[in-house]
Amino acid sequence: MSLTEKVALVTGAGRGIGAAARRLAAGGAAVVVSDIDQEVAEATAASLRKEGRRALAVACDVSRRTDVQTMVERTVAEFGHLDVLVTCAGLIRDNLVYKMTEEDWDLVIDTHLKGSFLCAQAAQSVMVPQKSGRIVLISSTSALGNRGQANYSAAKMGIQGLARTLALELGRYEITVNVVAPGFIETRMTEATAERMGISFEQLTAGVAATNPIPRTGKPEDVAGVIAFLADDEASYVTGQVIYVRGAP
Ligand code: NAP
Repeated sequence: MSLTEKVALVTGAGRGIGAAARRLAAGGAAVVVSDIDQEVAEATAASLRKEGRRALAVACDVSRRTDVQTMVERTVAEFGHLDVLVTCAGLIRDNLVYKMTEEDWDLVIDTHLKGSFLCAQAAQSVMVPQKSGRIVLISSTSALGNRGQANYSAAKMGIQGLARTLALELGRYEITVNVVAPGFIETRMTEATAERMGISFEQLTAGVAATNPIPRTGKPEDVAGVIAFLADDEASYVTGQVIYVRGAP
């Protein structure tokens, strides 16, 4: 697998599943490490540069069109093109439907669904003239429904519809659009879930592992490998697909 000469932009890359940025850099890509928090993004980018990789940190709130446009413009200004977009930015605001506030509904939909739309739209404006590109959107097993996650589930299923539609529209430009849908991955997001449930993270992971066909929880690296495959030339005839990374069917 070689991503040499490729430029990859990863949102929410400061932590968690955004570690995909590290995996793409290891494959030879120049990476734009984007996160809502400039400090977190810069720390990751700086550590990659220390390892001899090409990396640029860009602060971006993916729910804001102007931020997203600036992020893509800075990518092209720094590296000349954009070959791979991976959208890892995300948050959760869980609650049962009868207690869910409109603010928490809007925040989750805006971050995940609108954010994926804005990022994909900005990226395709560079990729279409190039006649090449890879877009990997991040969904979740929660897309299939999950108690306490009406907002998140709706956004994550919406992302699957967005990706299939983008795949139909962008295929003629040799741009593939796929979705990676993780199950339980050990990150700050799932740590927050344990906190909300009032149990330790160890208790939560042990419970998940005990009922999963592959009896463990996932690590960000489990997801990063699949993202890297979809970003590679080897996957040039795979588009509009949803790949669940959950240690279960
Ligand atoms: P994470 O560790 O919390 O990382 C998400 C990153 O996105 C954080 O750095 C967060 O910043 C950032 N972010 C939040 N809102 C943003 C915005 N508006 N614009 C830009 N960046 C923003 O979470 P993760 O588990 O790696 O999640 C990454 C993606 O995988 C998300 O789309 C999530 O829904 C999805 N996913 C995760 C799991 C799982 O089990 N962990 C399972 C399925 C899908 P702050 O920390 O400052 O908020």
